[in-house]
Amino acid sequence: MRRTALAALLAVLFAAPTLHAQGRADLVQASLKNPRVQHVPGDLLVQFRRDATEADKERAARSLGAARGEEVLAGHVRQDGKGDLELLKLPPGLEVAAAMRGLVNERAVEFAEPNWIYHHQAVSNDAYYTNGSLWGMYGDGSSPANNFGSQAAEAWTRGNTCGQSTVYVGIIDEGVMINHADIAGNTFVNPGEIAGNGRDDDGNGLVDDVYGWDFAGNDNSVFDGSTDDHGTHVAGTIGGRGGNGVGVAGVCWSVKMIPAKFLGRNGGTTANAIKAVDYITGLKARHGLNIVATNNSWGGGGYSQALGDAIERANAANILFVAAAGNNSSNNDTTANYPSNYANANVIAVAALTSSGGLASFSNYGASTVHIGAPGAAIWSTVPGRKGESNYASYSGTSMATPHVTGAAAMYAASHPGATAAAIKAAILGAAVPTPSLAGKTTTGGRLNVSGF
Ligand code: CA
Repeated sequence: MRRTALAALLAVLFAAPTLHAQGRADLVQASLKNPRVQHVPGDLLVQFRRDATEADKERAARSLGAARGEEVLAGHVRQDGKGDLELLKLPPGLEVAAAMRGLVNERAVEFAEPNWIYHHQAVSNDAYYTNGSLWGMYGDGSSPANNFGSQAAEAWTRGNTCGQSTVYVGIIDEGVMINHADIAGNTFVNPGEIAGNGRDDDGNGLVDDVYGWDFAGNDNSVFDGSTDDHGTHVAGTIGGRGGNGVGVAGVCWSVKMIPAKFLGRNGGTTANAIKAVDYITGLKARHGLNIVATNNSWGGGGYSQALGDAIERANAANILFVAAAGNNSSNNDTTANYPSNYANANVIAVAALTSSGGLASFSNYGASTVHIGAPGAAIWSTVPGRKGESNYASYSGTSMATPHVTGAAAMYAASHPGATAAAIKAAILGAAVPTPSLAGKTTTGGRLNVSGF
């Protein structure tokens, strides 16, 4: 379809916050020099231009001696005007940095970058952290009380438990134990798929994605056993069933959580993270679901324009991208942490707070790159037991702080139907309670206050 001049102008005006090519290259180089950041050896993620032909792509791959790998995202399904995003497999001995340099003058290539490796942002359930209380949900006036909790319990007291809400959130993480006693009923069932018929009924390219998808294993099993503890823990904080007399309660007692698994035993890659982000965005467009946010309790990869583009597609669909600030005790203003450092308008970067109001010792921070603090130390939530039973555990990390904010986004959306991503973000940041440990370390200088909106 031919675009009019006006449409082209609007596309420019509303384009993603993109950096010029040299700026992007510098960010990638900085990531490659960061010893904390890893990438998949031999993988090169290549964004081809929209007008690149198959012959152009073959020539680009051959110039490196590389093989065409999988297509991460097909240009023809994209709304953002970009071409195919593909993974090239480099020949043995060719470093990713050298391969990137080799494509700099290749006309068919918009950019090429490493396939970064991400990890979840929880620290272990060390007994030191375990104290047996759900303090992150408390308010200063709840019983039991904690001034530094998220104040969710005060919202509940006023009757705001998300009720029978139809709000959906994506959980981009490990898998989720969807039949956990405290989660069952609060997870997504794809309205466009018929279970077990072996067909892609809703046409999104995935066969029988009835309960979500596993991009690490490339199958429809969204729970693969006790190693999916981190994703299950995150889910319990966002939407653990409240008021059922069992275990824990999430911020939002009634919500539909969509597992988009991309973290496996050894972490996850940029390529699979992009698929997971786009999967959630696609479900919103395809089925008209009220998806308001994704939870992203992972990090550690380098700068990726391709992932930034995926986050922008979510932004265009009014889906917040709530991200962990990271667990390196470092300043994200000076050492970038991705994905929380992406400048897209829909990103909320979350630091971790202790039950006494301190910035958790492990938590990253950043006066201009981290937005808000939330409970993230000694957080009890749902986990799978070793024998498949429903269990609970106390974890710490910015991974645990992030779902408190995602739950808050779901609660705001439940009580403010039709709110845009920008409005939800503004409400959450605007309600933050000034907190000395976060002053000068976050953009708000404050902590999450679920009862403040
Ligand atoms: Ca499908």
